[in-house]
Order: sequence, then structure tokens, then C-alpha cells
Amino acid sequence: MKNNDRNNLSINWENLLSQAGYRITQPRRTILDIIAETERPLTPVEIFDRARAKSAGIGLVTVYRTIEKLEELHLVEHVHHLGDCQTVFRSSEQHQHLLICTRCGSSHYFDGLEMEEQFKHISQKFGYQLTGHWLQLAGLCEECQKNLKKEQS
Ligand SMILES: [Zn+2]
Ligand SMILES: [Zn+2]
Repeated sequence: MKNNDRNNLSINWENLLSQAGYRITQPRRTILDIIAETERPLTPVEIFDRARAKSAGIGLVTVYRTIEKLEELHLVEHVHHLGDCQTVFRSSEQHQHLLICTRCGSSHYFDGLEMEEQFKHISQKFGYQLTGHWLQLAGLCEECQKNLKKEQS
């Protein structure tokens, strides 16, 4: 994502939140920017730390509330990362799946349409009507593979 897109995302969120009756204050705007800009899942405390570094007077409660609102509107989702289910990441626009680096958290959405077909077959095999699935891949990104090699040599 380019810088412009990030700002657009954050502005878009801001509009959606105010349409939903949520008042956008400066602290909340800062929190939106941080989540929209970051290419990896963040814990509420990480968001809090980054927000505080940008502007003083942001409380952890505000971070949690803002995440809650974003989640209600399906703009962010909870992600399993390093044994933590509290981390949040921007949602993809369509139904997609997430690939996460277990070392640095760098994340990418992908379609995986072939898998969707497989899931249908699996559920049919057991006589289920499929209503949903949750899927996330974990791995090491290129950068982290390189760094690990350097560390080990
Ligand atoms: Zn990585
Ligand atoms: Zn899927």
C-alpha cells in the first residue's frame, strides 16, 4: 500500500465511524491513522504506545473503544499472532485470508479461491452445509529468513 492509500483508508474509516454516530476526536483520529498505516497486526498496547508517541493525552481505554467501534463496522479484525488474539489488523475489502510473518508480523491478504472450493468439498463429504471458515497462514517473510540466516552464520 502506498502512502496515499493509507491516508484514504484512514479518512474512509473516519467517515464511516461518524456516519455510525461516533464522534471523531484527535486521539481517535491518531489511533485510526496508526492502525490504517501499519502493515502488521498490532496489540492494543502497541497502538497505545505509538499513539502516545504521536500526541499526548491518549488513554488505553480510548484505544480499546476505537478498536471496538472499528470492529463493529468490520473495518478491522482480530488476528491470531504470537499466541495473542488481541492483535488487530485492517480487514480486507472482500473475503480474503491472511498470511502473517511470525517474526516481524508483516502481513498480506490473499484470495485462495482454490481452497474455498476444497472447503466446500470437505463439508459436503461430512454432510455439512458450509456457513463459514476461519483461516490464517503463519510463516517467515523473506526479510526475516535472510536475517535469521545471518544470525545463524
Ligand atoms: Zn518477517
Ligand atoms: Zn475463505
